[in-house]
Amino acid sequence: MTKYPTILLFGAPGSGKGTQGKMLGTLPGYKHISCGDVFRSMDPNSEIGRVFLQYSSRGELVPDDFTIRLWREHIDKLVTIGAFKPETTILLLDGIPRNVAQARMLEPHIDVIKLIVLRADHNREEMIRRLKSRALKENRLDDANEQTIRRRLEIYEAESKPVIEYYPKHLRVEVDAIQKPIEVAHDIISAILGRTNELHAIEPVAAAAI
Ligand code: ADP
Repeated sequence: MTKYPTILLFGAPGSGKGTQGKMLGTLPGYKHISCGDVFRSMDPNSEIGRVFLQYSSRGELVPDDFTIRLWREHIDKLVTIGAFKPETTILLLDGIPRNVAQARMLEPHIDVIKLIVLRADHNREEMIRRLKSRALKENRLDDANEQTIRRRLEIYEAESKPVIEYYPKHLRVEVDAIQKPIEVAHDIISAILGRTNELHAIEPVAAAAI
């Protein structure tokens, strides 16, 4: 089985990875898949839809087996209908893997070529503000009350952050997510093109002149 070349978009709830992922997914050659969007696209009355709501409304993660199975089925369907062409497209995964167990389970399926970490943890109140405003715009139950939001941020710290260390350090690029969306997009695209690494590798004075 061939592994899909993959860029992981990583960041706490409210860091803006969904917004960035959607935009990057419009670029030719990249396919954006948000695990949360896949869950939300399920019929809320189906078994999957009910399980998702049961966990997400409490700010908890959906169990790993269930999540990975759903993700596989979604990708297979996209390949079958020609909406994802693995030979010519890089996968941009957002919201998965969400813990180290999921990272291990995805190992046979994806070849991680870059890990983009959107850093917003230095401004927790801004993340909470973004999530509350999203609750109103997107009618999301899991953003509706502050207790659930705080629970999700705790789970990110305890379960999701260790995923960053799971992958080799040289694949990692950190981007300041508390910037304007276009600036975040600029930094991500630079990272994807390898530009950031090059700039860091040369003298600051020379870099400033570029
Ligand atoms: P956010 O990044 O703001 O938490 P997502 O759309 O990525 O939003 O996820 C919303 C909810 O969907 C999560 O709180 C969780 O319940 C569920 N979910 C999404 N991705 C995963 C995953 N990989 N594993 C388990 N649960 C997930």
